[in-house]
Amino acid sequence: MSELPPLPYGRQTIEDDDIAAVVRVLRSPFLTQGPEVRRFEDRLCEVTGAKYAVAVANGTAALHLACLAAGVRAGDVGVTSTITFVASANAIRYAGGAARFADVDSDTGLIALGSLEEQVAACEREGRSPRVIIPVDLTGAVADLPRVRAIAKRTGALVVEDAAHSLGATYTSDEGTHRAASCAHADMAILSFHPVKHVTTGEGGAITTNDESLFRELLDLRTHGITKDPAKLEQNDGPWYYEQRTLGFNYRITDVQCALGLSQLAKLDRFVARRREIAARYDAAFAGRGDRVRPLAVPAGVRSAYHLYVVRIVAHEGEPLESVRARRKALYLHLAEKRIFAQVHYIPVHTQPDFRRAGMSGDALPGADAYYASCLSLPMFAGMSDEDVDRVVAAVTEAV
Ligand SMILES: *Cc1c(COP(=O)(O)O)cnc(C)c1O
Repeated sequence: MSELPPLPYGRQTIEDDDIAAVVRVLRSPFLTQGPEVRRFEDRLCEVTGAKYAVAVANGTAALHLACLAAGVRAGDVGVTSTITFVASANAIRYAGGAARFADVDSDTGLIALGSLEEQVAACEREGRSPRVIIPVDLTGAVADLPRVRAIAKRTGALVVEDAAHSLGATYTSDEGTHRAASCAHADMAILSFHPVKHVTTGEGGAITTNDESLFRELLDLRTHGITKDPAKLEQNDGPWYYEQRTLGFNYRITDVQCALGLSQLAKLDRFVARRREIAARYDAAFAGRGDRVRPLAVPAGVRSAYHLYVVRIVAHEGEPLESVRARRKALYLHLAEKRIFAQVHYIPVHTQPDFRRAGMSGDALPGADAYYASCLSLPMFAGMSDEDVDRVVAAVTEAV
């Protein structure tokens, strides 16, 4: 029997029309700073429902600019959840601030509001209210943005939703149903178009917002802090004239990438629908195994976009975390032997050596410890067949 193909935890879906869209731009006069960027941004507004979008080089750059626009400077503090990709916390540090970490609810992996309130109170006691709070829509389920926003308002922080996992997800509030990255309950949201995310531009990211002044600032920061807007110039020497008004960056995305992004965005509904089908197939298969493995819980009112499909090893009564962690590792290794490449999302950021050395590790976060010890991301991408899913289920069932 020939060897089964490898199944990664995530992978892009590129089709012929995506390739044709890229080739069209390669034959056009503009490879960057042309019309595709603006088109992609307009489409992002339609897809998320946000008023403004600024496309940038990657999701990390989007987080960096969002922190700067939120006013994070040297000596400031920002709070995020410890179960996230390091970029959510690094962005606060790039802007000169210190990162503080809130715990997660171990059933959902999403930011725990009680812990967030404690971290905010601790910042206030130290005389530096957080400038920014970055809730993370882990795996594609939207964090409790209405309540995060209420906490942020009380302390005077802006909310930056890390929606890198949740493009296409929805959540509900007292006012109705909202889309991830719509900024209905956030000042800004960030997206990533890395190949494992729902739609890809190779590398790429974006910030969405409903606030015009944040939007203008983000545009300036994306291009060196340079403006040509006559209304903003301190003097005007002629039609070539521009001014650098603040220290910005070259965080531009190219037209080549945005052409791919536009082509991909047209498929977002189909991709997300397929991810939900795969999640339902996994859910049904694991329903009878609730004593061994359990899918990550999705909060009521949230429709996940399933960037990831996480299962948790169920701990026995009184089982120490080391033992759960060992069983998770055994499952990971068993899957790898079958050429199924699961992944762990994420190692709690506050335990990373660099954060420890920077004095940002803070207190023990037991929800995150329990989550981290037991989580495993199984393959989840729009191009998976039902047979692929069944192959993963069979391998997991065998191992547990
Ligand atoms: C992917 C991701 C980012 C941004 O990543 P880039 O690779 O820089 O586009 C940020 N936060 C989370 C949670 C992510 O998964």
